[in-house]
Amino acid sequence: MIRCYIALGSNLGKPREQLLSALAALRSLADTTLVNCSRFYGSIAVGPGQQDNYVNAVAAIDTTLTAEQLLTALQSIESQHQRRRDVRWGPRTLDLDLLLYGESSINTDTLCVPHPRMHQRDFVLRPLADIAPVKLLQSEFGGINSATFKDTDDLWVLNDNDQSQSA
Ligand code: AMP
Repeated sequence: MIRCYIALGSNLGKPREQLLSALAALRSLADTTLVNCSRFYGSIAVGPGQQDNYVNAVAAIDTTLTAEQLLTALQSIESQHQRRRDVRWGPRTLDLDLLLYGESSINTDTLCVPHPRMHQRDFVLRPLADIAPVKLLQSEFGGINSATFKDTDDLWVLNDNDQSQSA
């Protein structure tokens, strides 16, 4: 089994429900166990135009799928959630990014792992710090932990009963 980390994000069509439904899909993926999921976060959209806030989280899975098989499975889950690929960094019902596939370094036409932009994105790092082991956070992310982050106007913990995604 390979331990993988997947970033989940949505800012269209009931984002929290999109994430819950994506987690259910990950749970029922063949040859895969959903190990853990971070808290859910609200975040301000980074991208073109005026966009609704995002809900973000990071999930840990164990899988025997290859990285390419896993990417295909993630894209199929995105499609099941009416994901369209028209505007780069535009609004999306569901975005699933493969952050880490064990300790592998992969650079192909379709897959880049570790995900090239994850280190610059607090909406990835903060949920990752909720669930990743200290050793990984030390070696890959310079020793961040959940206490590194505080709620800001750009990124905040969502309460279970907060349906608005607003701060
Ligand atoms: P996006 O529109 O941000 O979901 O990007 C999707 C595209 O990024 C697809 O064409 C993937 O083949 C490519 N890609 C490269 N590396 C990754 C990765 N680590 N996780 C998800 N998609 C990736």
